[in-house]
Amino acid sequence: MANFDVIVIGAGISGLTAAKAAVQSGLRTASIEALMFGGLVVNINELDGETAGSGTDFASNLMMEISELGVENLSETVSSLSRNGNGIKVTTDAGEHTARAVIIASGAKLKRLGIPGEAEFEYKGVSQCADCDGPMYKDEEVVVVGGGDSALQEALVLAEFCKRVHLVHRGAKFRAQQHLIDAIAKHENIRPVWNSVAEAILGDAMVQKVRVRDVSSNATRDIDCAGFFAYIGLQPTCDFAPADAARDAAGYLVTDAQLQTKMPGVFAAGAVRAGYGGMLTHAIADGQTAAKAAKAALGG
Ligand SMILES: Cc1cc2nc3c(=O)[nH]c(=O)nc-3n(C[C@H](O)[C@H](O)[C@H](O)COP(=O)(O)OP(=O)(O)OC[C@H]3O[C@@H](n4cnc5c(N)ncnc54)[C@H](O)[C@@H]3O)c2cc1C
Repeated sequence: MANFDVIVIGAGISGLTAAKAAVQSGLRTASIEALMFGGLVVNINELDGETAGSGTDFASNLMMEISELGVENLSETVSSLSRNGNGIKVTTDAGEHTARAVIIASGAKLKRLGIPGEAEFEYKGVSQCADCDGPMYKDEEVVVVGGGDSALQEALVLAEFCKRVHLVHRGAKFRAQQHLIDAIAKHENIRPVWNSVAEAILGDAMVQKVRVRDVSSNATRDIDCAGFFAYIGLQPTCDFAPADAARDAAGYLVTDAQLQTKMPGVFAAGAVRAGYGGMLTHAIADGQTAAKAAKAALGG
């Protein structure tokens, strides 16, 4: 007999929501999280969009709710999934668990540029958390790379602390929500660097310069700065899922409308799945849909 009806992998907002909905529908539910609960949202002090407030508060409230509702919270890292008779075996760094259904809500992580200096200067000026590290760059200059919602949102956070934010973008206009573009335009200390890419991060013990190349002229120049933040999109974290749970070309898990993957009994919710909407409202909707579909699949 399986240990649980449902195991939810990942305690970001989609996983926490799925675990809450699953336990409320009467399923014996476990939540497995490798790091701290909350996922991507814990680094956001001021949420944008329909979900206002601090990301940490939002995640903490959900975490308290699922604990009170009786979800078993396991601090483990999932390494593989496999079929086990009628159920599914979830292997972690701490052992094995079995469930009748699994909801993969393991999210995504911020991509790296992979340029020289990025790994070398990690924690020495290279960061991906504007809210956590912004105050360290008070009255300094920083470089932010990207042209989407995350890059603009985080540039606005940094602009509150920094003397100047150089916003390096490959294109000639941002592809972000209009209210973020408007807010950027109002900040005199945010300077867009259009049609440009970051090529290298330079310094001695700490970041001192970022080399950027203008993609039209091919000319390079160095921007003096103390901090470097790249927000160039996300990559899914689902290496542990078997090949049977099909992926799209970018590695995101493919699901049907009920969020079931190609592996029967295995569902995917939130930032890990192809076609995810991108905002917390979508993470919440996905968590609820996946839990409902898991309940139905188990004869609910
Ligand atoms: C910089 C930035 C700013 C944003 N700002 C906003 C905003 O203001 N408003 C808004 O609505 N949205 C915002 N978003 C989007 C929002 O944060 C995400 O869409 C949402 O948090 C995704 O939630 P998730 O639960 O699907 O994934 P995640 O938050 O990625 O959670 C996945 C969880 O799974 C865990 N996990 C991964 N692998 C394993 C494993 N093998 N074993 C166990 N656990 C595992 C991870 O540790 C993580 O906790 C922002 C995103 C970024 C990157």
